[in-house]
Amino acid sequence: MNPLPADRLNKLPPYLFVEIDRKRREALAAGRDVIDLGVGDPDLPTPPFIVERMAQAVRDEANHPYPLGIGKPELRSRIAEWFAERYCVSLDPEREVLILLGSKEGIGHLPLAVVNPGETVLVPDPGYPVYRSAAIFAGAETASVRLNPNDRWQPEWGTVPSDVRKSATLMYLNYPNNPTAAVAELADFERAVEFGREYHIRIAQDAAYNEMSFDGNPPSILQVEGAGELAVEFHSLSKTFAMTGWRIGFAVGNAEMLAGLAKVKNNVDSGTFGAIQDAAVEAIEHMDHIEVRSQMDVYRERRDEFCAGMRACGCDVQVPRATFYVWCKCPAGVDSMATASRLLDEADVVLIPGIGFGPGGEGYVRAAMTIPVERIRETVKRIERLKMFGR
Ligand SMILES: *Cc1c(COP(=O)(O)O)cnc(C)c1O
Repeated sequence: MNPLPADRLNKLPPYLFVEIDRKRREALAAGRDVIDLGVGDPDLPTPPFIVERMAQAVRDEANHPYPLGIGKPELRSRIAEWFAERYCVSLDPEREVLILLGSKEGIGHLPLAVVNPGETVLVPDPGYPVYRSAAIFAGAETASVRLNPNDRWQPEWGTVPSDVRKSATLMYLNYPNNPTAAVAELADFERAVEFGREYHIRIAQDAAYNEMSFDGNPPSILQVEGAGELAVEFHSLSKTFAMTGWRIGFAVGNAEMLAGLAKVKNNVDSGTFGAIQDAAVEAIEHMDHIEVRSQMDVYRERRDEFCAGMRACGCDVQVPRATFYVWCKCPAGVDSMATASRLLDEADVVLIPGIGFGPGGEGYVRAAMTIPVERIRETVKRIERLKMFGR
């Protein structure tokens, strides 16, 4: 028999949190009061009106057989209407909207549909690790595009070597950004589309956090003139509605790219449970419902408390305009792994070392505002005591 695992699994980037994970489990086993700001998973419940709709929909026998491959027509139409209202972009619900088992599923399968083995996929550094894995599974090469900390963590297009530009056929973007919490302006997307057009590189923009903004609505890349010719955008209900466990998201944009992705999906899954799609219609119809918007108020209060506290400690943090992450600069001369280790060893606080998102994340740690504000206050108190950020 061949040795396991298959070669492609060995090509995945190493999992860098083994040590942090082990320490976290040890601390928990020892009964220590661990505060976990590591996982980007909402601690708030799904708004009750969505749960109610789901409960009804589960009883509807029409939802019991295999769902339709590309998603229910009602849901795709509702998404197209919402997109027109939100972004003034018109989408054909038949060809330009595709329902996914969470956006990660679509992000992970897309290269199988649009990239040939040996071609290059550009991934942001720092970035969500799934982009690179997706490219590797498709037999593609990957190349990093550095995000520039001095330019709002926007891609440094100028630093992509010319041979890489020529071999690249797909690039991932992610704004609002995980892990940096940076937001892109429409002009940034215009530059990306221009770059893609010039070098014949298709674009997959991950907009999982577009609805998690504290001031105004971040743009859609499809608002850029002609972007629909080469770009798709991934949206998710996971973070917006605190429904990460439900597994539903969608992709919009270029019809050919989406047709390819749908074909891949037809061969590996049989669609999203109809009841979840019914609940998603309800959710999208009530994007501005008080129970949804008040979740952002909760994250805002935590963010403000955390950022003010960290600044008082001497830590350099930018108050994020979107996402539930805060991207914190490590103390001078201390790398992200050492910073995270010390916080865990000496304060029982779990943060994610930036290096886990690529070399471009070195020198930072990511904190997720997914714990109650009292616990955020306790976190800051513990960090203050260490005096590791200077004050
Ligand atoms: C959470 C997250 C997603 C969303 O994943 P789902 O599969 O929709 O739950 C996608 N991209 C990024 C960068 C994320 O952080």
